[in-house]
Amino acid sequence: MNYHKFDVVIVGAGGAGLMSAMQLAHGASIAVISKLYPTRSHTGAAQGGVAAALGNQEEDHWKWHMFDTVKGGDYLVDQDAGEVLAREAIDAVYDLEHWGLPFNRTPDGKIDQRRFGGHSRNFGEGPVRRSCYAADRTGHMILQTMYQQSIKNQVRFFNEYMMLDLLMSDGQACGVVALCLRDGTIHTFHAKTVVLATGGYGRAWRITSNALACTGDGMAVAYRRGIPLEDMEMYQFHPTGLYKIGILLSEAARGEGAYLLNNEGERFCIRYAPTMQELAPRDMVSRFIVQEIAEGRGIDGKDYVYLSVAHLGKEKIDAKLPDITDFARNYLGVEPYYEPVPIQPTAHYAMGGIPTDIEGRVVTDEQNSVLPGLYAAGEVACVSVHGANRLGTNSLVDLIVFGRRAGKHIAAKWLPEAEFAPLPSDPDAYATEMVEGLLSRTTGETQENIRAELRDMMMEYVGVVRSEESLKNATAKLVELKERFGAIRLMDRTRTFNTELMEVIELGNLIECSEATIAGALARKESRGAHYRTDFEKRDDANFLSHTLAYRSETAGAPELRYKPVVITEFQPKERKY
Ligand SMILES: Cc1cc2nc3c(=O)[nH]c(=O)nc-3n(C[C@H](O)[C@H](O)[C@H](O)COP(=O)(O)OP(=O)(O)OC[C@H]3O[C@@H](n4cnc5c(N)ncnc54)[C@H](O)[C@@H]3O)c2cc1C
Repeated sequence: MNYHKFDVVIVGAGGAGLMSAMQLAHGASIAVISKLYPTRSHTGAAQGGVAAALGNQEEDHWKWHMFDTVKGGDYLVDQDAGEVLAREAIDAVYDLEHWGLPFNRTPDGKIDQRRFGGHSRNFGEGPVRRSCYAADRTGHMILQTMYQQSIKNQVRFFNEYMMLDLLMSDGQACGVVALCLRDGTIHTFHAKTVVLATGGYGRAWRITSNALACTGDGMAVAYRRGIPLEDMEMYQFHPTGLYKIGILLSEAARGEGAYLLNNEGERFCIRYAPTMQELAPRDMVSRFIVQEIAEGRGIDGKDYVYLSVAHLGKEKIDAKLPDITDFARNYLGVEPYYEPVPIQPTAHYAMGGIPTDIEGRVVTDEQNSVLPGLYAAGEVACVSVHGANRLGTNSLVDLIVFGRRAGKHIAAKWLPEAEFAPLPSDPDAYATEMVEGLLSRTTGETQENIRAELRDMMMEYVGVVRSEESLKNATAKLVELKERFGAIRLMDRTRTFNTELMEVIELGNLIECSEATIAGALARKESRGAHYRTDFEKRDDANFLSHTLAYRSETAGAPELRYKPVVITEFQPKERKY
């Protein structure tokens, strides 16, 4: 057996994983396991910025940021967590600055800040400049900065190791099992602490902004081990993906003054959201677009509208939006200096995930019982600061605030008392069986159609708009896909960098995440945030002001659902107006 032993194993080297590692680099023995080379993590694709009420450009307060987060999340946000997010964002951003992150600057040398959707001054009076940024490559800079610092601090990296299983014994997490992609060997990591920081699962949809690696591995692995997934039906579509491709054009464009146009050349957002206009939250702007298209005002009657940046002028475009305008040139052949860019909503962000408390500890039920030794942070987790809809630039804050808190809690509170729990007997049995099963099967269907049908199904039935009928269709299709997946066959049965093996395991994970998403959506008979039901168009606080917990069952398509109350401290639910 390939055996490794560390005090802490962090799975994932994106913003959340690296931020946790930075807190632990002095003292504990730690390993970061990542299926990608760390700087290829999806955090590197984040463009727009990271929100923090620094007040460098105009008056701002963390309380306003907290309010916007709660309101933006359609009141499904746990407000104790929302408070931590808004308060600690400020210190976490200064940490990044001190580690060398090259933020854009104001003329007097402070971190520059820009507008983003849903961020407002004085509890909703109008937009505020709150998002700190490094051109349109903020996430790239975050990753580079923290990866350099981690190397400097001698963090041990296991790159291109893919976690397949989570180990528990004596009611405590005690390690993970991973596949070394280079040679196909299985490795057991024995640990006092496991941190899951494996990111989101946007690849479940056909049109998505997410990188190929965003396949919900951490969520699926935990779900298979009996840990519930929280609020998975809350999946965000970003309004501005490149038409047919889904590649993101950051909200930073609209923050800098770009606008959306329908076939009549009308700025339709003004009709729906007179105050915030194009800067209303993403769930709403995505629905505005879908409605314009449904009513025949898509461009040339097709399923897209225009994003126009041309009026901003070449100089501003080149200084503030260089990368995303290049995407339009390279992928669509459109010149944004002069032409509007065709866009459509694109699957973007999981508000749901593995439930945690505000220290990043994984909790497993309605009473928030802590699972000792297991932490989660970043997009894989649901602490729940985003509730039913995340505001732009609030994810990078989530990574650095809760990655930081998890790391600090492990160092100060957990490790001083924790012991290694013994490994279960045959710790790698499950993972070995999975891999050997796939490598030895010689009959059955290969992956392409199952993958394509899953992604089409999620797009059609579990997209911006849903209904009882669409979700029942989705459930039936999922049951079929799960059965076909159970008999899947590989074409490549070698062990060295077998990317087909990796992709098939990822496909299995996407199916698990989709199951929890569909079941939660079917049961939530209301419209809230990103979850919009044509058959229940209103938010229903009397029955659904609560978090969904989906527990895996052996019956395909039918997880057990339970509900836990939302933490409300200051802001009572109100109707959202923008
Ligand atoms: C195009 C795009 C633009 C965005 N722009 C912004 C923005 O401007 N502002 C903002 O706040 N948010 C933005 N977001 C959202 C934000 O970037 C992500 O939510 C966030 O970066 C996720 O970070 P993470 O650390 O949780 O995971 P990731 O950065 O996705 O990293 C996941 C890590 O886990 C590892 N991993 C995954 N599975 C396994 C496994 N099985 N075994 C081992 N390792 C594994 C990967 O190798 C990787 O290192 C954007 C997202 C996208 C897609």
